[in-house]
Amino acid sequence: MKRILITGGAGFIGSHLCDRLIREGHEVICLDNYFTGSKRNIVHLLDNPFFELVRHDVTHPYFVEVDEIYNLACPASPVHYQYNSIKTIKTSVMGAINMLGLAKRIKAKILQASTSEVYGDPLVHPQPEAYWGNVNPIGIRSCYDEGKRCAESLFFNYHRQNQVNIRVIRIFNTYGPRMHPNDGRVVSNFIVQALQNKPITIFGDGTQTRSFQYVDDLLEGMIRMMDAPNDFIGPVNLGNPHEFSMLELAREVLDLTGSKSKIEHLPLPQDDPTQRQPDISLAQERLNNWQPRVQLREGLTKTIEYFDHLLKENQK
Ligand code: NAD
Ligand code: UDP
Repeated sequence: MKRILITGGAGFIGSHLCDRLIREGHEVICLDNYFTGSKRNIVHLLDNPFFELVRHDVTHPYFVEVDEIYNLACPASPVHYQYNSIKTIKTSVMGAINMLGLAKRIKAKILQASTSEVYGDPLVHPQPEAYWGNVNPIGIRSCYDEGKRCAESLFFNYHRQNQVNIRVIRIFNTYGPRMHPNDGRVVSNFIVQALQNKPITIFGDGTQTRSFQYVDDLLEGMIRMMDAPNDFIGPVNLGNPHEFSMLELAREVLDLTGSKSKIEHLPLPQDDPTQRQPDISLAQERLNNWQPRVQLREGLTKTIEYFDHLLKENQK
């Protein structure tokens, strides 16, 4: 049994990670400031004596004795990370410094939830870890992209300079139950719109692509990475290589929900990447043949069920 700190633990991915680690018999401390997360995501764990909830902001130091830290605290949806862009940079950078300082002091292993956004609008396709990316350093996405890039740099510098035992994963677009209904990301937007028979908002012409990973597949890769031998610290891509255009995604959602929604085209936001697909050969090689198991239709079906239930509950 390990004692594990999860920052951002009340968010979409973090709450699933809390569930999984508790199920595996560990003691979990979930730290969150509830900016985009919610107590609702972890309320079912509150009676468990091996689960602790802490309201805290990672931009301030925090001290606790743990064996492992998963650093997930950071808004992930463009709408939310651009809402207070300076705070987003502080969360990524100061959050990394505070958590790395803690890991150094207590000799804990620490994993950083980095992102495919470090590749920006990629000129190499699909993206291997060795690609350095194509990021606009002053654009509206830079608070997130450069914040995460700086966090990666901090992780590797704490490793080189202070021998901190680090792991860095680059997560590609991940979806599933417990995304916030007003999260603003494409999968939750399309599903909520379809279930309400409201227009499906496609930004631009919808030919831009993403590769969507179901949350359970990510968790498996994330935990395998934390448990990987100390000579494999990453960065490693974790994503589903099946690539879809936003038009294709909209059609799948319409088909699976049987919705009457029409498609509406809205302006494409600045610096919106045109394509994204992970090269996962490194993860397959180093993480015991890890690969995503849940394909889009199956994952969407589970996510649609979740939102359908949530929207009906909210109507009561
Ligand atoms: P999310 O917004 O649901 O979760 C982020 C959590 O961090 C929320 O609970 C939020 O309240 C918390 N948080 C934000 N700022 C904080 C602060 N200053 N102090 C403490 N807590 C804070 O998003 P998610 O999809 O669950 O993402 C989790 C992590 O994974 C993020 O670091 C994100 O960058 C990374 N990631 C996610 C994706 C994806 O597709 N979901 C892709 C790449 C990377
Ligand atoms: N998108 C869209 N309609 C929406 C929300 C997003 O067409 O209602 C597009 C967005 O422009 C982008 C893609 O979907 O090209 C993925 O957007 P998301 O915000 O989910 O993630 P990211 O851009 O960070 O990959």
